[in-house]
Amino acid sequence: MAREIWFATGNSDKKRELSGLLAPLGITVKIPGDGGIEGFDPEETGGSFLENSLLKARALRSLLLSRGIFEPVIADDSGLCVDALGGRPGVYSARYAGRHSGRYTGSGRYTGSGDRGPGARDKKLDAAERNRLLLEELGDRPDRGARFVCAMVLLFDENRFVCVQETLEGELVREEGRGTGGFGYDPILYIPELGRTAAELGEEEKNRISHRGKAGRAIVKLLTCQS
Ligand code: IMP
Repeated sequence: MAREIWFATGNSDKKRELSGLLAPLGITVKIPGDGGIEGFDPEETGGSFLENSLLKARALRSLLLSRGIFEPVIADDSGLCVDALGGRPGVYSARYAGRHSGRYTGSGRYTGSGDRGPGARDKKLDAAERNRLLLEELGDRPDRGARFVCAMVLLFDENRFVCVQETLEGELVREEGRGTGGFGYDPILYIPELGRTAAELGEEEKNRISHRGKAGRAIVKLLTCQS
């Protein structure tokens, strides 16, 4: 089994989460910044979480190959899907900028070809502004159902990979976001069974039930089977 695995992300929080899962197996997680791998900034053009995760993994793999590194690569793509908004913001979660960002076309796919409105591509809105815009777009619709989704892929070779997709089910809050933990949309996703928003959970508690935690643990099982 590989002793080192690359994670196609620039996000050190995600690296910390995955390292926590893989360290007990004696596997070190590296991200492009750690290994001086420059130029990792793939455009997330996929129409689904799965496509985007594969696209990120392949982009990092080709950078590694050009440096003579042949280790497996893990990548993920995640976001928030709101039922009453037809699954949006979905793959546009990091770029959500109001009601015109992205369009759901069914079967887990999105297109950005519609009017995505001013600023839809720009990541400069902060999380609090995004959360406010999203609650505003949802208004007082009674259907509050929403979920975080995470697709994660483990790429061994250009055409050899495994992928999993997991969710954290919840409801969008009615008023304002709550809690100071986590990141992104955490303050506005309420988990009915726990009576708290994702931002009101401790890190370990969130990892146990979260889309990324569950996908990460499934990938770890698959990695163990590969040995
Ligand atoms: P990614 O880095 O391309 O996977 O983008 C994920 C985006 O989805 C983030 O910028 C957040 O806006 C949102 N997101 C994904 N997972 C979570 C989570 O666990 N909590 C809050 N927001 C999340």
